[in-house]
Amino acid sequence: DADIAMYHAKESGRNNFRFFTADMNRKAQERLFLEDSLRRALDAGELSLLYQPQINLRTRTIVGAEALLRWYHPRQGFIPPGRFIPVAEDCGLIMAIGEWVLMEACRQAQAWREAGLPAIRMAVNFSPIQFRQQRVVGSIRHALDATGLAPELLELELTERVVMRNAESAAGRLRKLKDLGVRLAIDDFGTGYSSLSYLKQFPVDNLKIDQHFVRDIRTDPNDAAIASAIISMGHSLRLGIIAEGVEDQDALRFLAEQHCDDVQGNFLSKPVTGEQLAGMLRGDGAG
Ligand code: C2E
Ligand code: MG
Ligand code: MG
Ligand code: MG
Repeated sequence: DADIAMYHAKESGRNNFRFFTADMNRKAQERLFLEDSLRRALDAGELSLLYQPQINLRTRTIVGAEALLRWYHPRQGFIPPGRFIPVAEDCGLIMAIGEWVLMEACRQAQAWREAGLPAIRMAVNFSPIQFRQQRVVGSIRHALDATGLAPELLELELTERVVMRNAESAAGRLRKLKDLGVRLAIDDFGTGYSSLSYLKQFPVDNLKIDQHFVRDIRTDPNDAAIASAIISMGHSLRLGIIAEGVEDQDALRFLAEQHCDDVQGNFLSKPVTGEQLAGMLRGDGAG
């Protein structure tokens, strides 16, 4: 990359030093811009949640939804979470954002219940920064109390890296969360360092197979082998398995053959608004 940049710099007759400095400035400025805008975004109501359905392969019904954060900046337009969440984690804003997400997701899940719709679990992504804070247990209890949502309908998604790093203290924290009655899922499973047998000591309910394995499940025999190993070993540990990033019929068929429990992905449904998901639950054709 550096070579290419240098080449272009010479080509255009520009000074190399200035070239790189400008590039570094641009990155730092984008970060400052995002941090600054993000601070205002929460109050300005620029953040919203979409919900991606999770479908049980046996019953073919929606059994859950994952809350996914969306940010529409008034001038920049859509900014994907992969771009702003790392910034929010660095500057500490993830705590306020995370609490908003938690409250909004619980409120929506309870609103579906009060509308008489089938009970489905609401999955909420948790940043490692949030998980590390002592007050995480209290803020989850508060969200459940304030909205009236039954704890077993809330599922917290943590990545395996969070759980494996500092396994000792993580186990204690996970226990406290479990004691609230919520469900726990390991997100992006297969990308980190954990062994399945190690997971036994954690009170986890679901494993989510990382979408990179799922995407190439037909074309990459290694990915197929990993996915089916996760499913069968996960089941022997009495864990539920969710495959995410299901993009076509073939992946769906393979996962059904392997007895994967639930599936999530654009082939089934992209993330939708709370209202659209209510329509799907009502079965009025939106799904
Ligand atoms: P994740 O938790 O692994 O979420 C799954 C991502 O895969 C979502 O992207 C979803 O839209 C996308 N996806 C689902 N099915 C498909 C598919 O079939 N094909 C493709 N190409 N993509 C699919 P999204 O919404 O951009 O979120 C990216 C990541 O941002 C999430 O990964 C999660 O780590 C993070 N994130 C999103 N919302 C929150 C939040 O509220 N809090 C925190 N801490 N992180 C969040
Ligand atoms: Mg997730
Ligand atoms: Mg994931
Ligand atoms: Mg691959």
